[in-house]
Amino acid sequence: MRLRNIPGADETVGNSRWVIQEPEVWKGRWREIFGNDNPVHIEVGMGKGQFVTEMALLHPGINYVGIERYTSVLLRALQKREKMEEIPNLYYLCIDARDLPDIFEANEVEKIYLNFSDPWPKDRHAKRRLPSREFLSRYDKILKENGKVEFKTDNRGLFEFALEEAKESEWELETCTFDLHHNEEMMQGNVMTEYEEKFSERGNPIHKMIISRKK
Ligand code: SAM
Repeated sequence: MRLRNIPGADETVGNSRWVIQEPEVWKGRWREIFGNDNPVHIEVGMGKGQFVTEMALLHPGINYVGIERYTSVLLRALQKREKMEEIPNLYYLCIDARDLPDIFEANEVEKIYLNFSDPWPKDRHAKRRLPSREFLSRYDKILKENGKVEFKTDNRGLFEFALEEAKESEWELETCTFDLHHNEEMMQGNVMTEYEEKFSERGNPIHKMIISRKK
């Protein structure tokens, strides 16, 4: 998702009190940002932020960081948040997720959500896919022992690629379904993302896997 040329997006994102600027400074010190020791969960590629916002409202005892690389997209999340109540357990980062190990210390993150990540269908772009082994290795650097990655998508090819990458990288497959919306157990507590709403309305089955970090 990329919304081009939105006037003022860079300035609004750069000045927002909800967007952490120069995030490398906070590596190992995220508890100071939130003012507590609660677990930190991040969504990589949050888009307009519907999922991470709802999660933060539902789970006030967890600290959330929504990550989106384009200011034009993050701007939409900020605009929606303006109209909402205070959400003290939610901040955003406008970064490329490749930089995650410069921003979070080892063991600083408990869970990573990847929702409807861009498929990058060409083989030569496989390294850009957020569930690729290159990204798994970055997640491995910041996750706690037994930390988890939860991945949802309607893209069967990307999902199968993610399963293979997790296996090759020796992550533990905890659970997996090719039809989340008809899996009563895995649907418990499910929060829909913008893309999940759109694609499930079209009748596309939603796939979900949870993998954990083997140590
Ligand atoms: N998660 C949302 C959902 O399910 O509705 C949005 C899905 S959208 C297809 C994927 C988003 O991930 C885009 O907004 C894109 O800009 C962002 N993204 C892709 N690669 C990224 C990266 N390396 N770092 C940060 N954000 C990224």
